[in-house]
Amino acid sequence: MSEEILFVDLESQRKQLIGIDKAIQKVLMHGTYIMGPEVYELESQLSSLTNSKHVISCSSGTDALVLILMSLGIQKGDAVIVPSFTFAATAEVVAWLGATPIFVDVLPDTYNIDPSSIEEGIYVAKENNLKLKGIISVDLFGQPADYNALEDICEKNSLWLLPDGAQSYGASFKGKPVGSIGLATSTSFFPAKPLGCYGDGGAIFTNDTSLAEVIKSLRVHGQGSNKYDNVRIGINGRLDTIQAAILLEKLKIFQDELEARQKIANVYNSNLQDLVQTPKVLENVSSSWAQYTIVLNKQNREQIIEKLKSNGIPSVVYYPKPLHQQSAYKNYPRVMKLNVSEHLSENVLSLPIHPYLSNSSQHKIINTFSKILQEAKEREEII
Ligand SMILES: *Cc1c(COP(=O)(O)O)cnc(C)c1O
Repeated sequence: MSEEILFVDLESQRKQLIGIDKAIQKVLMHGTYIMGPEVYELESQLSSLTNSKHVISCSSGTDALVLILMSLGIQKGDAVIVPSFTFAATAEVVAWLGATPIFVDVLPDTYNIDPSSIEEGIYVAKENNLKLKGIISVDLFGQPADYNALEDICEKNSLWLLPDGAQSYGASFKGKPVGSIGLATSTSFFPAKPLGCYGDGGAIFTNDTSLAEVIKSLRVHGQGSNKYDNVRIGINGRLDTIQAAILLEKLKIFQDELEARQKIANVYNSNLQDLVQTPKVLENVSSSWAQYTIVLNKQNREQIIEKLKSNGIPSVVYYPKPLHQQSAYKNYPRVMKLNVSEHLSENVLSLPIHPYLSNSSQHKIINTFSKILQEAKEREEII
């Protein structure tokens, strides 16, 4: 019998983490569950790994985004441009603070925010009498957005750039690690992300010292000189010490995991590129391959998912509905054309890509998927 194929395999990963029980035990022994020494050690390691002057760990990727927006004073009357083809948290944090997300389109090959659509988004903000403050770009499926183009637009229009790096920790753009680009970057340690903990967690990366100070205060109820001195309205946004200890263990194998993901992506690319649209990675850019997402050529996606499933292969649709079509977000302003976001949401499919996917499983996925597509094509030709 062949081994079970999992979409994400945290169990195999745990077997590699030989120091994990001891690391957790250590926290239980010292008992500093909140802001213990592991939290500061993690922040310091992440800071040197990303060449980012300040790293502030926090309670989730969503809280990382909201803490940055709060530190920038985002409020009602302000607008922030976001891609429509992303996870809801990217736009949610803007709306949460009473500001307005403006939805723009993404590119068909990288699935990341489309710079030309941003130009139209800037116009939409003016039409709606909103004060446009910045752009939250998303490094979708692990690939950094085109930061060169984005930084140009931001500079020309006096906007800040906030990369939502929830899926891209470990990736790089033209030699710069994710976390070192833009005014501040957020990431998520949700268990299924490339660098995940065993619960919720996140981090903020910035080179701006005064911003970092405000974020640290906001993370603990807007504290001043101590926790019972409140100088601004904040949140409870800390990362648990146990989660920091787990992340420190996971960092020891993270580089190997990134390489394993890249190898699988290469195998998929070379075997699937003639059958479907495979993901395009920009030159001198590396992806952390949070997902391996292909675009079908109008084949019946539901049927393909069912057939993969009956062959023991899990697959997932990220994301079935763009945000501008979601009931919670459909009344926010948007650019006219969001065709690419709509097309992708109807045709994308993510295949398993975790670092512990064996060669035989990779080939089973490729062979089964190819066969299903071939059969679908033959049926169409008969009709
Ligand atoms: C996962 C994710 C988030 C939110 O992170 P959480 O840790 O789950 O709060 C935000 N943005 C994107 C693009 C994500 O994929």
